Amino acid sequence: MSQTFEKLIVSKFGGSSMADKEAITRSATVAVNRGSSVVLVSATYGTTNQIIEMTDHAKLGNWDEAKNVLDKLAKRHLELAQEFELNDKELSSIKEILTEASTLVQGVSLLKDCNKKVMDSLLSIGERISSHYMRRAIANVLAQKNINKNVTYFDIRKVMITDDRFGSALPQLELIKKEASKYMMDAKHGEAIFVSQGFVGSTKDGQTTTLGRGGSDYSAALIAEAIGANELEIWTDVAGIATTDPRICPKARPINQITFQEAAELATFGAKILHPTTLAPALRSNIPVFVGSSYEPEKEGTWIKKECEHRPLVRAMALRKNQSLLTITTPKMLHAHGFLARIFGLFDQYKISVDAITTSEISVAMTVDSSIDEEKELLDELRSIGEVNLESNLSIVSLIGNNINHTPGLAQTIFNGLQQDDTELVNVRMICLGASKHNFCFLVNSDQADLAIKRLHQTFIEEK
Ligand code: ASP
Ligand code: MG
Repeated sequence: MSQTFEKLIVSKFGGSSMADKEAITRSATVAVNRGSSVVLVSATYGTTNQIIEMTDHAKLGNWDEAKNVLDKLAKRHLELAQEFELNDKELSSIKEILTEASTLVQGVSLLKDCNKKVMDSLLSIGERISSHYMRRAIANVLAQKNINKNVTYFDIRKVMITDDRFGSALPQLELIKKEASKYMMDAKHGEAIFVSQGFVGSTKDGQTTTLGRGGSDYSAALIAEAIGANELEIWTDVAGIATTDPRICPKARPINQITFQEAAELATFGAKILHPTTLAPALRSNIPVFVGSSYEPEKEGTWIKKECEHRPLVRAMALRKNQSLLTITTPKMLHAHGFLARIFGLFDQYKISVDAITTSEISVAMTVDSSIDEEKELLDELRSIGEVNLESNLSIVSLIGNNINHTPGLAQTIFNGLQQDDTELVNVRMICLGASKHNFCFLVNSDQADLAIKRLHQTFIEEK
């Protein structure tokens, strides 16, 4: 059966979509209904954290406690295997993976040490097991629907080649493409559905690696790119991206479409959405990304695309809490050059990320995460350049949209919106506009941040 005319879809199901038999079956139904050819999964909900907990005990030499967690993990997984009525071969494969985990964690507890290489092998077991359930669940759904198609359990380590930075390994795209074209052609030609693991990879010489916590979105984007997929679908437990955090603003609405650039601004400025760095392969290869809820697959969800038909001035707004404003002032900056280079050189050296910046002739102000307090050495070095002032308890409010720096009257609408009535005036401590056509952000006291979002959401989204 060939279906090359159909869309080639890679989908990824996160931990919450893999919570139990019911959730996995629901996810499998989604994968089949959407016509996915490659399905990558996370570990079942909570498993990765459990593996970390187990290893933490083992590192202290507390074998009994480590064993306790391992037993719980094994029991839960064997129960699931039973619920899915896995066959002997599948069951023995899961048991082998669990034995591998047990051996490794015993080693860790004897050594009272766990290097990153061992940790990655331990971490990989969650995804390696959960993909067995998903394979079976998809096979069940296909059988129910009388669809005759192979569903293959695929070990992603054959294809997801990375370097050896264990714990956050760097995928090697050319090798991934090469191996995918060797092993995954059946998926491409519609002859099989591949069920495999997110997050997990392998060095060229076969050592297990991982891409870092939450890495399975990245896995899915890379595989989509490697096999030339038409679409990437990320299934989670929220029906896409909302105009703002619904906990702050109950009237937040789902966004149907958003560009990669806007999504990048949104994620950087605090929205809990897929991090665009993990979607970089999709952006690079222009693969539209869908984000939806496997719990409510009938809801529209969000498409992240290179271009959207509708480009509203303000599409969404985000809040980034726990910010500090660091101001460095020195008359030496007057008509001089090189000050900013010195200052940012230091931030680079201490690996501190700066988000919003404004300058005047003799001072520069920038927002940083409030953990800057702990960077005593950096602060001392900055003090040797100028007078340093640190204000905390601030939040960045950002409006994300299009043509933001070329729209007359926008600032006026924003500030009128902020001060709608004179019950409570919102003080704006700093404004950042001009660098991007997609972002207007400003800094307020944290205790006024929710109010600012509510008022602006009303002005720009609810009243539209
Ligand atoms: N299971 C891994 C984690 O929890 C990877 C993922 O789910 O994306 O971080
Ligand atoms: Mg996850």
